[in-house]
Amino acid sequence: MSGLSHLLPLPQQFYCNGTIIVAGPCSAESCQQVSTIAQKLKLLGIGALRAGLWKPRTLPGCFEGVGATGLDWLVQAKHETGMLTATEVASKSHVEACLDAGIDILWIGARTAANPFAVQEIADALEGNNDVIVLVKNPISPDLELWIGALQRIYNAGIKCLGAVHRGFVSTADTSYRNAPIWQLPIELKRRFPALPVLVDPSHITGNRAHVTTVAQQALDMGFDGLMIEVHDKPETALSDSEQQITPIMLESFLNTMTVRRGKTSGDELNVLRQIIDQCDDDILAALAHRMDVVRQIGQLKRKAGMQVVQHGRFNEILEKRKSQASGLHLSDRFITQLMKLIHEEAVTQQLSESTEE
Ligand code: PEP
Ligand code: MN
Repeated sequence: MSGLSHLLPLPQQFYCNGTIIVAGPCSAESCQQVSTIAQKLKLLGIGALRAGLWKPRTLPGCFEGVGATGLDWLVQAKHETGMLTATEVASKSHVEACLDAGIDILWIGARTAANPFAVQEIADALEGNNDVIVLVKNPISPDLELWIGALQRIYNAGIKCLGAVHRGFVSTADTSYRNAPIWQLPIELKRRFPALPVLVDPSHITGNRAHVTTVAQQALDMGFDGLMIEVHDKPETALSDSEQQITPIMLESFLNTMTVRRGKTSGDELNVLRQIIDQCDDDILAALAHRMDVVRQIGQLKRKAGMQVVQHGRFNEILEKRKSQASGLHLSDRFITQLMKLIHEEAVTQQLSESTEE
C-alpha cells in the first residue's frame, strides 16, 4: 500500500493569519456574485476562493449548479483578484473542463469520495497534471480507510499537492449538527500522514451559520491545518446551503478574533505531566491485564458449571455502578459507558475463546 510519503506543502496563498483558509460561496450563481464575493474575500486577506459549479444535490429538481458556464466566472475572479480558484469535481468531464480552464484547486466531495470507481475515474483524468491541487473531503460514512483510499488514488496519479477536508458524517443520531464531526478520524489521519494538510469544513458540519465560527475555532484549537468555509454576500438568497453560509462581515470578525495556537509550554512542566500520564497508562494496562486474567478464570468456572458466557444482569450492574461513580470523578457518562462496553466486549470474547480451546 502506498503511503502519502512525498507530499508538497500547499502554496503560501492558502494562508491567512497563520492558517490555511479556503472560502467562498457554496455555489457559483452568477459572474457578478462570484466577482463580488472574491473581491470582499481578497480584502480580508483570503487567497483561495471556492465556488461549486456542479452541485451534488440529494433531491432532483433542486439547483444543481451552473456547470461549465461558471468556469469563466472563476477565471475572471482570478484575474481580478489573483486568488487561487477551487471547485468540486465528480467525474472525468468535470476534471477535463477544469484543467482546460486553469482552475487551481479541485475538491472531491463527500458523496464522490465514498465511491472508489468515481475517485479512480477522477484520478485517471488527473494523470500527468501534477500542478493542480486536490482536496479530498471525507466520505459521508465514517470509514477512514475509504477516505485514505481516495487520497491514495489521487496521490498515485501524481498529485503531490494534496489535502483532506473533514466535513462531518451523515448520522442517524439525534444531533444538532448537519453532519456530525468525528474528530478521532481526522486526528488519526494526521497521525498516520503528518505531512498531509487536514482542513475542517465547519459549514457542512454545523449546517447553521450561527455555529460555524465556533466549530472553526475548535478545529484550530485541535491543531488542524485550516478551514474551508462557505461565505456568501447575501446568504439568505443563496441557491444552495443558504442556512450555513456566513457573510464576509462575519468572516472578518472571526479572522480578527480567531487564535491559532502555535505556542510551546516550558518543556519541563509538560514533560513532568507527560511522565505522570505514561505512568497512568502503565497502571491502566496492568489493571486491564489483571482484569482479563480474572475474566478467563471466571470463564472456566462458567464453562464447568454449564453457565452462559453473557450474564446480562451482571453487566447492567457493572455499568450502572461505574456510571454513578463517574459523575463524581469528572468522567462523562458517555465515556464510561463506551469504556465499560468495550471492556465487557473483550471479556466476552476472551471467555468465548476459552470455551473453544481444548
Ligand atoms: C460543498 O462543499 O459545497 C459540498 C457539496 O460539500 P460536501 O461534499 O462536503 O457535501
Ligand atoms: Mn455547500
